[in-house]
Amino acid sequence: MMYTYLEHPEKYSPLSEEEETCDFCGQEKLCFDASFFYSAEDHDFICPQCLTGGKLIGREIFTCDGDIDELKRQLSVLHPEWSVEMIDADAAQKTTALEKTTPHLITWQDWSWPAADGDYCKFIGYGSKEKFAALAPGTSGEELFKSSLYYTVEEDDDDELWEDLLPEDDIADYDESADIPQLFYVFRSLHSDRIVTVWDSN
Ligand SMILES: [Zn+2]
Repeated sequence: MMYTYLEHPEKYSPLSEEEETCDFCGQEKLCFDASFFYSAEDHDFICPQCLTGGKLIGREIFTCDGDIDELKRQLSVLHPEWSVEMIDADAAQKTTALEKTTPHLITWQDWSWPAADGDYCKFIGYGSKEKFAALAPGTSGEELFKSSLYYTVEEDDDDELWEDLLPEDDIADYDESADIPQLFYVFRSLHSDRIVTVWDSN
């Protein structure tokens, strides 16, 4: 399965190891864990077909929380000719696609999914010095890291984040990330090479 806003779901939002009963279609399938979804309802599992098929749309269930205010701000800068209604409609459509059809990314804290270039970004993996070096061929991984920090990152000492908190080595998947108390989440814009990073800790 391909997802607009999440690369390599098999690494970052793995399916159950055994078949489970999907809460939404009742079939026995390999499923995503739905227990972490943002909802007042309790759910255990959802199969990929129900997630991408839009079974969450129209219900008070969200797999994540998009930074819709920042998205609208970007859209109004990119499209000064658009009316407020057009911006709201475009943002709402992208937010539904993000929050209702994207597998859940397990994080230490709840934070808003970043936006860049007038759309939500695609999650491409966990941050490390190795990863930023690979993303910045010919230039400095440190420079890329510092310029990628999302506006919500309050830490003004980006030197300290780079020196003391960013892991050295690549973090391959969710299982490896679960042992690491500070995680950096790396995203790429859908519309440019822009990299966006947020971080949290347990
Ligand atoms: Zn299903």
